[in-house]
Amino acid sequence: MKAFTPDSSIASDVIPSPNFGDRKDGRAPDMILLHYTGMPDVEGAIARLCTAGTEVSAHYVVLEDGRIVQCVPEAKRAWHAGIAHWAGEEDINSCSIGVEIVNRGHDWGYPEFPLRQIAAVIALCRGIMLRRKVPSHRVLGHSDVAPSRKMDPGEKFPWHSLANSGVGHWVQPTAIVRGQPLKLGTVGDDVLKLQQGLARYGYGVPVSGTYDGTTMQVVTAFQRHFRPLRVDGIADDSTLTTLQALLANLSPGANVAAAG
Ligand SMILES: [Zn+2]
Repeated sequence: MKAFTPDSSIASDVIPSPNFGDRKDGRAPDMILLHYTGMPDVEGAIARLCTAGTEVSAHYVVLEDGRIVQCVPEAKRAWHAGIAHWAGEEDINSCSIGVEIVNRGHDWGYPEFPLRQIAAVIALCRGIMLRRKVPSHRVLGHSDVAPSRKMDPGEKFPWHSLANSGVGHWVQPTAIVRGQPLKLGTVGDDVLKLQQGLARYGYGVPVSGTYDGTTMQVVTAFQRHFRPLRVDGIADDSTLTTLQALLANLSPGANVAAAG
């Protein structure tokens, strides 16, 4: 693999990965997808992303000390999303820039993300958003686009800090109170409304009026990102009103493809 000039001026190193292809139909990326590496050590994580045959890669890796390594040119299609769905699109690798954040993940103790690392993620994303015209509501986590398979970057990822710096879409989640929640097995118009709201936001969810296992996985992913205080897959009042607040301040015309 030939080295290349980093697209981001704050990337300090290039470690070229052979794992990439062309974006489908020359699709310009307009989404940033954030991941954690989910491996016990950083060397193993980078080796996996940059070795032929593993069939995985990402455009950037953000280390715990804030250093940023680029592995795939932004113009190319890196392989990080897998089977995924967002706002009517399924080829998420073609429309996104993938950022792997070094963190051992849920299987290895799931440490807090160091502030230095978060500051680097923010700076990297701000640059990409500016250069690629990525709208705030299209800075997403892997679990948002693949709720049945993925948990990363997880409920410890400080989305509110990113939003305070202009990265990502966020509203302060409403308080958790007692009430009658929607949960696995619930059937009716309230479930239909929840599913319609999640689908309008971009999530791949059945709109059936039945709170099935898939709906529960999507609600869990929503909570991991937008209401991380309690992640249980139960749509309580706080979950529902936080979703409504997000939808209400989505920019006009956003996600029109998913609204139909
Ligand atoms: Zn991931």
